[in-house]
Amino acid sequence: MRSFVHTSLPTRVVFGAGTVAALPEEVDRLGLRRVLVVATPAQAADATALADRLGARAGGVFAAAAMHVPYDVTLRALAAAETMDADGVVAFGGGSATGLAKAIALRTDLPQVILPTTYAGSEMTPIHGETRDGRKITQRTPRVQPETVIYDVDLTLTLPAGMSVTSGFNAIAHAAEALYAPDTTPVINLLAEDAIASLGRALPRIVADPADASARWDALYGAWLAGSCLGVVSMSLHHKLCHVVGGSFNLPHAETHTILLPHALAYNAPAAPGAMAAIARALGAETAPEALFDLAGRFGAPRALRDIGMAEPDVDVAVGLVMQDAYANPRPLERDAIRRLLAAAWAGDRPAPG
Ligand code: NAD
Repeated sequence: MRSFVHTSLPTRVVFGAGTVAALPEEVDRLGLRRVLVVATPAQAADATALADRLGARAGGVFAAAAMHVPYDVTLRALAAAETMDADGVVAFGGGSATGLAKAIALRTDLPQVILPTTYAGSEMTPIHGETRDGRKITQRTPRVQPETVIYDVDLTLTLPAGMSVTSGFNAIAHAAEALYAPDTTPVINLLAEDAIASLGRALPRIVADPADASARWDALYGAWLAGSCLGVVSMSLHHKLCHVVGGSFNLPHAETHTILLPHALAYNAPAAPGAMAAIARALGAETAPEALFDLAGRFGAPRALRDIGMAEPDVDVAVGLVMQDAYANPRPLERDAIRRLLAAAWAGDRPAPG
């Protein structure tokens, strides 16, 4: 008899293998005549090939996107868009390229077409994070919600196995926290559980063979569903921890998610038994936090914050930052237990309820 409010986001999704071929048609569908293609430096060659595919519809390539959307990069991209009189943005890549497209859309309202090549999920959300003067500020605004997303399984085949695992954990984290979000809905619960099941099936096969197209399909499908959850409902402790720890100590995004997720779930487990049962069911496991910790270990993913560059004294700094703002979480934030959580994640210990 529970009441709920569910919002469906308006992004058009084209999904499959070889779907990059639909890009010119999708750009035309939005009535765009001169788009700016954005990517990270590592994917500059792919972005140029994409621009070639677009022919006269592409006005240029800006391949300087960077993690956490630095403001100075945004200003340079905006200047490039203005110089070429762009009427749309095409992003090729992971969350960094998508973040830059969103930064441009935020200021110009230019339509965006995103071709994701990781499992981060940003392409499905109205969430925009940007780093300015050393601080990352995140906001939700429909202005940055992409118009069209073209998921092409073929574009993910080059994502190295290690990055596929951590990026997959980033996606699982969106779905896991959606299951206990205060504003979750029955539809989101369906998407979230299926996202985790699909990614859980995919990742061992990708580690065994990164060229396994059917495993890549499952992972990208899971990433789409997980991103859809992130776009609609509020995130809690886990995302807050990643934001604080990753942002304050400049740690790599997907790895930070991978390390913290089992610990954040263990913390919340006593207060969110239904969500934990759904995650465990999706993974075919007994308990969700342990299953994710063991999966990360089996795949050789990092399991300790100290191994990705966090110094031990930063644990206490992080505790202070996490306790600063109030936000929804199934279990109230208890300083000592949060400290134990972060100390365990720093050391790489097994997750414990605290
Ligand atoms: P990323 O976009 O920084 O990519 C990491 C590296 O992998 C880059 O060098 C990239 O060029 C390379 N790469 C990407 N796809 C590849 C492929 N298929 N083959 C080979 N190399 C490839 O990393 P990410 O984890 O996708 O994104 C992280 C960023 O996204 C963070 O800044 C995070 O805050 C943001 N994010 C935002 C949202 C949101 O909703 N706003 C959601 C998730 C993540």
